[in-house]
Amino acid sequence: MFGDSSQDAPDRVVEVLLPLALPGAYSYLVPQGMAVTPGDYVRVPLGPRQVFGVVWDSGEDGAAAVDRAKLRGITERLDVPSMPDLHRRFIDWVATYTMSSPGAVLRMCLRVPEALGPERVRTGYRLGGPVPQRMTPQRTRVLEEAHEELARSAADLADAAGVSTGVIKGLVDAGTLSPVSLPAFARFKRPDPAAGGVTLSSIQQAAAQLLRGEVAGRAFSVSLLDGVTGAGKMEVYLEAVAATIAAGHQVLVLLPEIALTTDFMQRFERRFAAAPAEWHSAVRPRERERVWRAVASGEARIVVGARSALFLPFADLALIVVDEEHEAAYKQDDGVCYHARDMAVVRGSLGAFPVVLSSATPSLETMFNVDSGRYRSVPLTARHGGAGLPEIVPLDMRKLHPPTGTWISEPLAAAITETLDDGDQVLLYLNRRGYAPLTLCRTCGHRFQCPDCDAWLVEHRFRRHLLCHHCGFKVPVPNVCPSCEHEGTLVACGPGVERLATEVRERFGDRSMAILSSDLTRGAALRELLRDIKDRAYDIIVGTQLVAKGHHFPNLTLVGVVDGDIGLNNGDLRAAERTYQVLCQVAGRAGRGDKPGRAIIQTFQPEHPLMAALVARNRDGFYTYEMRSREQGELPPYGRFAALVLSGPDEATVTQVAHRLARSAPRAEHMRVLGPAPAPLALVRGRYRMRFLIKARRDSNVQGFLHSWLDPIKLPGSVRLQVDIDPYSFM
Ligand SMILES: [Zn+2]
Ligand SMILES: [Zn+2]
Repeated sequence: MFGDSSQDAPDRVVEVLLPLALPGAYSYLVPQGMAVTPGDYVRVPLGPRQVFGVVWDSGEDGAAAVDRAKLRGITERLDVPSMPDLHRRFIDWVATYTMSSPGAVLRMCLRVPEALGPERVRTGYRLGGPVPQRMTPQRTRVLEEAHEELARSAADLADAAGVSTGVIKGLVDAGTLSPVSLPAFARFKRPDPAAGGVTLSSIQQAAAQLLRGEVAGRAFSVSLLDGVTGAGKMEVYLEAVAATIAAGHQVLVLLPEIALTTDFMQRFERRFAAAPAEWHSAVRPRERERVWRAVASGEARIVVGARSALFLPFADLALIVVDEEHEAAYKQDDGVCYHARDMAVVRGSLGAFPVVLSSATPSLETMFNVDSGRYRSVPLTARHGGAGLPEIVPLDMRKLHPPTGTWISEPLAAAITETLDDGDQVLLYLNRRGYAPLTLCRTCGHRFQCPDCDAWLVEHRFRRHLLCHHCGFKVPVPNVCPSCEHEGTLVACGPGVERLATEVRERFGDRSMAILSSDLTRGAALRELLRDIKDRAYDIIVGTQLVAKGHHFPNLTLVGVVDGDIGLNNGDLRAAERTYQVLCQVAGRAGRGDKPGRAIIQTFQPEHPLMAALVARNRDGFYTYEMRSREQGELPPYGRFAALVLSGPDEATVTQVAHRLARSAPRAEHMRVLGPAPAPLALVRGRYRMRFLIKARRDSNVQGFLHSWLDPIKLPGSVRLQVDIDPYSFM
């Protein structure tokens, strides 16, 4: 080894992982006098830049192999709690499984680089002097908001008083407000496991007892909390959350982004007398920094978040709950393609703690794992609070013909009138944004296509533009057909939620109506609208998928599904499963108060086994049917898929590369390479796309096969290859 005189001892070498899509960690020298251990956050030079990274391992194995003369030193060790060993193992695991670079996975963990710097001290202001001579209404409002003891930042105070920060500054100059230092971030209130407990039914109690047992066992397990909408699953898993925080550990509750509603957060806060830390796309950068720091230090005990919350560096995670585990929103299909539910199970396995999956309509993958004994089923059968499941009525649209350009059949219209006359609310569901899915010219047949994508433009009449739902391209709706130059010849084909709303207004004009669509309402306005709906300010709600999740409307007793067949025939292997899940979820919105509900589904395929199972409320019947058809086709969960998508700006190059790749595919048992074929969406954002689908046996090593195939391949710089293990999107 090296000389033992400390004078001559060369600097140690460590491997540092950088949050960049590089093949692996880089070697750096540890300067004399700096102590670093694996997991430490450091700042290092990279080319002309300084970047953050994490010491990945001590580098003792490879140290001799690297040319020390070429290595650069670590600039600084950051004063942040080290990344736990478990979290580093998790990153490596996800990278290996998804065939991504570990740096790309690390990047998902370091989305708030500010959190690695020192906490910045803020200045706050409190009442500290005489009232100024010159008073204005603005100044009066500020003085009403300001306290003698409680200091607030200038921005907070200005916001509360509804004035500009200039008014605050004036009061500081006048000596009325005095500055004090504030800690950079407010601390998270400690949740109280004993606060706000609700009385559970005996069925809920039995389920809660099972989950508490798993928490007490402190070992890896996966439980499926399985019960219909309204069965009170959340109250049950909150008992497992309570048991975990009572033992002093951290909990992560994952939800699909769309279901992270104010309503949901408030229920959490009521249960634990403290708000959980929130993590999703709408959380502001400063709050993200606060959450990241508090998760890393262990201060934040409960985190409620969207799929990306899985990559927060928890100090002491001991339970993950995946609510609505069947949701496709848990799958990320760009960048690092991962499924948050599956990776949550991996995290639990690495950390040796329980994972709870919750759903009214579990995924086939999860049901398969329950059937094979890997997951434990915790059933919740009765609907909590006495409300019965809604009655489900199919309407055969082959026999009912609403006039052209309208979508509500007579029996549905009659049910709407009847419900409104009873003083109840109606929800009409159509999962199509915009006015119409296709716009064409009546004279020449011209269709509006996105210039950058293989997709039609969707008319959004309320915003007066044509929009591409894939890339966001938009143009104003023209008066004149760009092809034949006739005026006023453009017609809308098919229904969108805006068109449905127009029909409702024409038919039920004397009733109040709200439209819920992500194009029209977001953020605070959306929360306000949801509250108004709950308070019964509207008779009829017309909505897209936005209404299906996480909302509780006590006066809603009729749900009308306008097009129950949407998505059923799109060729996706999970089409029937998803349609079934969505219809159950939407139907479950009806009758959640003390009145029974009813769901009417307009369909062109009433004889489809899915519709038959829905009507008979025979969930097992649907699962048996769907499992059998997957088994016959050796489709997931009976088989495995991987998808490869090649894309590039030049169609000929992409096609050529795809065919070259096809020729070099190795032969392997139980492994079929399908393609290349142009992707169903052959052009997205100006990039041409070719797809391969790899179909494998359930127990086969797909990653090993792909490495042997792809590693020797050198792609032209303009062509990108995306690998998606267990794909959910086949576009
Ligand atoms: Zn035309
Ligand atoms: Zn587009």
